[in-house]
Amino acid sequence: NNVILEVKDLKMHFPIKIKTKSFISEKKYVKAVDGVSFSIHEGETLGLVGESGCGKSTTGKMIVKLLEPTEGSIRFRGKDVFKTQGEESKLLRKEVQIIFQDPYSSLDPRFTVGRTISEPLVVHKIGDEKTRKERAIKLMNDVGLMGEYFDRYPHEFSGGQRQRIGVARALALNPSLIVCDEPVSALDVSIQAQILNLMQELQAKYHLTYLFISHNLSVVKHICDRIAVMYLGKIVEIANKKDLFDNPKHPYTQALLSAIPIPDPEIIVEQEMLEGDVPSPVDPPSGCRFHTRCKNVMDICKKQEPKDLNMGEDHIVACHLYDNKED
Ligand code: SF4
Ligand code: MG
Repeated sequence: NNVILEVKDLKMHFPIKIKTKSFISEKKYVKAVDGVSFSIHEGETLGLVGESGCGKSTTGKMIVKLLEPTEGSIRFRGKDVFKTQGEESKLLRKEVQIIFQDPYSSLDPRFTVGRTISEPLVVHKIGDEKTRKERAIKLMNDVGLMGEYFDRYPHEFSGGQRQRIGVARALALNPSLIVCDEPVSALDVSIQAQILNLMQELQAKYHLTYLFISHNLSVVKHICDRIAVMYLGKIVEIANKKDLFDNPKHPYTQALLSAIPIPDPEIIVEQEMLEGDVPSPVDPPSGCRFHTRCKNVMDICKKQEPKDLNMGEDHIVACHLYDNKED
């Protein structure tokens, strides 16, 4: 499998000022992303899952260059995206696109559907008005929107249709990789499956690679090949979907999985829900960041940060429970 994207030791620390009681302001950092590494293979969907505030959206924004990392590297087809310049950098901007969570706020209300979808072509000076219109109508057709909507405005559409517009816009430049940041989380459950199915169809048709960000493991189960679980700025487990669901190793992954509602009311399963709030990413817990909420916590967990351990083919976990049990 060809690696299309390689993320290495990525960090994003946002500076903040904290005012103390004595009116001295102290400079601290929100460690939103704190040493994240993973790769994505061409044509696959990698899920990036965790609770809100764990750094998954920040990771996505760095990949599409909306944010510049504090440290670490992102390589697209072997090229460091923050070091490319000129034509190479322009090409990269076309190749990697993003779909945002909120189809209401991510579309400019002053732009028609047609203008919204062809905007990336205008920005990149591709084609003339006529060819751009043809391309936009083709894309509308691809995402299941009628060409007649070309001159209408986003507010005339439902959330699901707006997200179709967002998908069409992301496709305009013929990208290889799309960062999908909670693309269905703002939609009604009944509409979610339609959009997910559309995304899968488009993936096959245009040979797309997805980084699929979600707080919801049941959404990810539908669409992903592999899944990375993130907690407080770090990835705690990565595995292929089957391994992650059948044989989760990290106590956090196990807790997330047990929080998935069981659709069959006949099946009664004891659920261990996650307790406690997510600690602050300004002063994350020492050692293993999950130790304040972990049911398996040991002494070593508070003192030493767990290393990434290899638990089998393509299955990595960072947890002291498996120290010396690598295979
Ligand atoms: Fe729990 Fe310790 Fe594993 Fe962290 S390292 S998840 S605290 S057992
Ligand atoms: Mg988010």
